[in-house]
Amino acid sequence: MPLRYLFVDMNSYFASVEQQDRPRLRGRPVAVVPVQAQTTCCLAASYEAKAFGVKTGTPVWRARALCRDLECVPARPARYVEIHHEIVRAVGRCVPVDRVLSVDEMACKLLGDERKPENAAKIAAAIKAAVAKACGRWMRCSVGVAPNGLLAKVASDMRKPDGLTVIRSEELPARLHALKLTDFPGIGPRMEKCLHLHNVFTAERLCALSVQQLSRVWGSRVHGERWYYQLRGDEVHEKPAVRRTLGQSNVLPPEHRTDAGSRAVLVRLIHKACGRLRDVGHWAGHLHAGVNYLGAGRRGWEASTPLSPCQDTLTVLQAFAGLWGRRPRDADLTPLKVAVTLTRLTPTRATTLSLFDEDRNRTALAQAMDAIKKCFGRNSVYFGALSGAEDAAPLRIPFGTPPVNSPAYQ
Ligand SMILES: [Mg+2]
Repeated sequence: MPLRYLFVDMNSYFASVEQQDRPRLRGRPVAVVPVQAQTTCCLAASYEAKAFGVKTGTPVWRARALCRDLECVPARPARYVEIHHEIVRAVGRCVPVDRVLSVDEMACKLLGDERKPENAAKIAAAIKAAVAKACGRWMRCSVGVAPNGLLAKVASDMRKPDGLTVIRSEELPARLHALKLTDFPGIGPRMEKCLHLHNVFTAERLCALSVQQLSRVWGSRVHGERWYYQLRGDEVHEKPAVRRTLGQSNVLPPEHRTDAGSRAVLVRLIHKACGRLRDVGHWAGHLHAGVNYLGAGRRGWEASTPLSPCQDTLTVLQAFAGLWGRRPRDADLTPLKVAVTLTRLTPTRATTLSLFDEDRNRTALAQAMDAIKKCFGRNSVYFGALSGAEDAAPLRIPFGTPPVNSPAYQ
C-alpha cells in the first residue's frame, strides 16, 4: 500500500514558542501555565522539563517539586495562534495541508511520486527546514509518514523531538507491536480499560483481533471494521451518517428563569448546536426555538423560520433574533425549559453553497472560531450575544473529542 499520508506534530509547541521568543529560556526547563494561579496544571512542558517528569497536566506545585529550577511562564494564546498560522503556511509551501487537526498538528495527503519513501522523506526534511526558517530553529516538529492518517499520526509520535518515522505497509503489524494501547489516537484511558476487560493488554494483541472481536470491544461493527482495516494500513472511507435534525434543550437553572436568562441560554444552545453541525459536516435549512413555562396547563411558545443552508453560528443567531421578537411577554410567565432544533439538514457534499462572499466569510469565521475553541477551551471566543451566559448550559460533549473519526485519520 502506498504512503498516502504525512503528519506533522510540533514538539512541545507552547514551550517551544516561549523558548524561541525568549533566548533566556532556551535549554532550560520551562512549563507554560495558565495566567492566573498556583493551584493549576501545566499546559505544556519543554523537553528539558519533561526530563524531570513534568508533563502537560502536571499540577504546578508538583512540577516545582519535581524540578526546582523550573521556569513557569504564563501562556500567550494569541502568540501561539499567530505562530500556528506561520507554521501552516510554511508546511503548505512544501506540500498542501489537507487538515489542520489542532494548533500544533496537521495532516497532508501525498500524491503520485510523493508517495515514494525517499521523496516523502525529502518532503519531511523540507517541512522542518521551512518551519525553522519561518519561525526559528527552536520550532521543531516530528513527522510521520504512513499508508493512512491514523498510522501517520502514530508514526509522528514514535520519535521526538525532531523525528521522522515512516511506517510502510510491509512492516505492519509488527511495527506497531511495541506501542502502548494509548499510543493510538482514539484509545484514551477509558477505552484502554475497556480493552483490558476484553483481555487486550498489548498492541500486538490489539492487532491480532478479528473484525468480530474488535466490533465487540468497540460495541459497533462500523468501528470494529474501521480499526481492523486501519491497523493494516487501509484508508477507510466513512459512510456519511444520515442525519435529519440536530437539537439541544436545557431545563433552566433557577437563576436563569427570566426572560433575559432564557434568551442567554438559548443563545448558548445555538452556539453548541452550530458547533455540532459543523463537527458532523452538515448544513441546516430550518431553525426551531421554543420555551416551556412553569406552571400546570401552561402551553409553551414555539416558533420556526427557514434558513438558506448555513452552518455558521452568526446566521442562525440572526434568524433566532427575528423569532425571539415574537415571544410572549406576559410578566407572569416563568420560563422553565428552552430548546433549539436545526432541521432540513444536508451533508456538505449535497449542499448548494452560497456564492456570496459575506456567507462564505461567515462560514470561514465559524471554522476559525471552532479551531480556537479546540485549542483554548469553549469560552475562549464567542459572539457578543452570548456574553454573561458562558456557563449556562454546560457542554456535555467532552472537550477534546478524540478526532479518530475525522477524515484525516482515514
Ligand atoms: Mg505536539
